[in-house]
Amino acid sequence: MSIPFNKPYLLNEAEEYVLEALRSGQHCGNHKWNQKCINLLKERFDFGEVFMVPSGTAALEMGVMLAGIGPGDEVILPSYTFSSTATAVLLNGATPVFCEIEPRTMNLDPRRLEELITSRTKMIMPIDYAGIPCDLESILPIAERHGITVMVDAAQSMNSKDQSGRWVGSVTPLAAFSFHETKNFGCGEGGALVVNRQDWVQRAHFLQEKGTDRRLVLDGVRSKYGWVDKGSSYLLSDVLAAMLFAQLSKMDEITHYRGLITEAYNIVLAPFELAGYLSVPHPPEGSEINHHAFFILLKTSEDRQIFLSKLRNEFGISAYIGYVPLHSFTKGLELGYKAEDLPITENLAGRVVRLPFYTDLGKSADELKYVTNSIHSVLESMYTLN
Ligand SMILES: *Cc1c(COP(=O)(O)O)cnc(C)c1O
Repeated sequence: MSIPFNKPYLLNEAEEYVLEALRSGQHCGNHKWNQKCINLLKERFDFGEVFMVPSGTAALEMGVMLAGIGPGDEVILPSYTFSSTATAVLLNGATPVFCEIEPRTMNLDPRRLEELITSRTKMIMPIDYAGIPCDLESILPIAERHGITVMVDAAQSMNSKDQSGRWVGSVTPLAAFSFHETKNFGCGEGGALVVNRQDWVQRAHFLQEKGTDRRLVLDGVRSKYGWVDKGSSYLLSDVLAAMLFAQLSKMDEITHYRGLITEAYNIVLAPFELAGYLSVPHPPEGSEINHHAFFILLKTSEDRQIFLSKLRNEFGISAYIGYVPLHSFTKGLELGYKAEDLPITENLAGRVVRLPFYTDLGKSADELKYVTNSIHSVLESMYTLN
């Protein structure tokens, strides 16, 4: 059997909706299917306003722009993230400042936040790695105390609830989601920016529409639109929105199947964690995760190498090493960082393994059994359980 790391989930409804969108003759942004996605997300998650955008990356970019961040400003984010989190800051002319993470979730460690705050800090941008909500209960009071805004890079965490039982994206002024094909709910490429500050909503429309007030014409406020601001084309094609709507409508079903994967991984790994050979994710007490991904922390990078190659060569299973920390790769070094500046992040990134995770894996009991049995065999060949 050959098991990929990831695979998009196909729905018959998507074919039907996409065809309908194609035939409607309205293919650009903010048409019927966009609106259906917006309504669904606002109702389900209690979001203030939702902007459907071409990618998670675009949502981050637009969010940084909307917060008025520019040259001379600093934005604090974990080094252990996807490049987009930092690129959104750079594109707006500001400087990313990298914070350490903690091992139970691989998310930003709020205890290391305050030491990074300066008079130039304008935003904190934590991510929800593997769909596990970041510790907003600790982050938000710090941000408030210093008058700093918070945008969550929630690319991976749609449909998770934080430690207080609140939906991810409903709490902070801004949250950026991704609908890339590798995420739980996808349309190839897509994203959403959630804006919970009412006073930012009108400008968000301007930024989304290439810096024009076209929205006011659509709303019947104005008869002619023109150039009022900067911005970009932060719009999602209605054809893709139709595909996405099929997925969003099946959120509970998709989450159910993915939950079976988390459960199976936890069961097979528990004895090895108990024996001290590895650790699994530990979402904060009270949170509910969306089952985006699953990671293991092994004891050493050497153990990781052995584990990954045995899985691949003996069982045809693709697992993956995760991110190279941003501060220690080419662009991070160019910004003046050295690998040893964030020793905890370096250490954790060197030992983490991401296991295969996709909706069809949860749907196929045989495939899932094959993967967990294979993981068990590999770990048994590496370690002894008493
Ligand atoms: C996927 C992802 C992104 C980028 O989303 P795209 O839709 O691919 O642009 C950004 N940040 C994180 C943490 C992600 O996982």
